[in-house]
Amino acid sequence: MNNDYLLLTPGPLSTSTTVRQAMLKDWCTWDDEYNKDIVEVIRRKLVTLATQHQGYTSVLMQGSGTASVEATIGSVIPANGKLLVIDNGAYGARIAQIAHYLNIPCVTVTPVETQHPDLADVEQVLMQDPHISHVAIVHCETTTGMLNPVASFASLAKRYHKVVILDAMSSFGGIPFDIGDMGVDFMISSANKCIQGVPGFGFVIAKQNELETCQGQARSLSLDLYDQWQCMQNNHGKWRFTSPTHTVRAFYQALIELEQEGGIPARHLRYKTNQKTLVAGMKALGFTPLLDEKLHSPIITSFYSPQHSDYQFKQFYQQLKAKGFVIYPGKVSNADCFRIGNIGEVYPQDIERLIEAVRHAMYWQQS
Ligand SMILES: *Cc1c(COP(=O)(O)O)cnc(C)c1O
Repeated sequence: MNNDYLLLTPGPLSTSTTVRQAMLKDWCTWDDEYNKDIVEVIRRKLVTLATQHQGYTSVLMQGSGTASVEATIGSVIPANGKLLVIDNGAYGARIAQIAHYLNIPCVTVTPVETQHPDLADVEQVLMQDPHISHVAIVHCETTTGMLNPVASFASLAKRYHKVVILDAMSSFGGIPFDIGDMGVDFMISSANKCIQGVPGFGFVIAKQNELETCQGQARSLSLDLYDQWQCMQNNHGKWRFTSPTHTVRAFYQALIELEQEGGIPARHLRYKTNQKTLVAGMKALGFTPLLDEKLHSPIITSFYSPQHSDYQFKQFYQQLKAKGFVIYPGKVSNADCFRIGNIGEVYPQDIERLIEAVRHAMYWQQS
């Protein structure tokens, strides 16, 4: 069955018909027919996609992506630890907010949303505050669409012997990188972003010897990353509490389709082509991207809203939806924007059709 419209949003996103078909059956988690191996296969495949280095393991965690971020922050920072968050957008801010909820000491370096964070600013904080034990950074800041230069921040943090936590929620599977090369200790992502599964769980790829030190540290029972990992390790992929079985089946299918597409490099190329087609087409229609071109990710792009007094996001949104495209409101605090995602089961021809739909929807320029 086909959908009425494409989701040009950063998750949930448009999935393939075959991924959705994988959910058309009710599964019993402990029945052999469910194929309990599926979780172990998924866990291994995720590690292989994240790094070629040895010594990494993975944990799946129920909930949206934020639950996996919260599980990580709440489980890996010891009672005497302190977190530094590099925050240039809503998702960096959310990590700091999680720390505050959990009473974990936390400092932030907060550059403006439209710029890369400054390495020297971060180094100064690391030099001045020896209590900092962990550093968190967001790879693609989905707020603006910016790709942060995480490798240089991770290696800086490593020079100061900090544990590195990477929110790669919206980039993992869509952009090639190796977390082992970068020295990342915990990387978080979720089922419904660039792997192109459906929502329901997130996952953490962890340096095993770091995760092994986290027993008994969690500030929440259901979000205890260590216990969840132990349960999966010792019981052949068993989740502690009810697992999102349909989502897991769909995710397994999505991983196979990622391989069939040619892996992460091929998917990256498709997303990049989507994004370049989008920016070129929108610029030709008079729209201006929020970020400098060199800061763009292939994941999602923010555009300034038209300044015309007749423009309303809601109306623009409805007109595009009627033509088969769902776009996303802005999230930047100091600029009026809307966002268009390039990820999911979306191809350059779809973006070309979108540009035509935008041209027709530009009611504020007519009359
Ligand atoms: C999507 C996303 C999250 C998690 O969002 P949920 O709504 O909880 O799935 C976290 N960080 C980034 C960068 C994201 O893009």
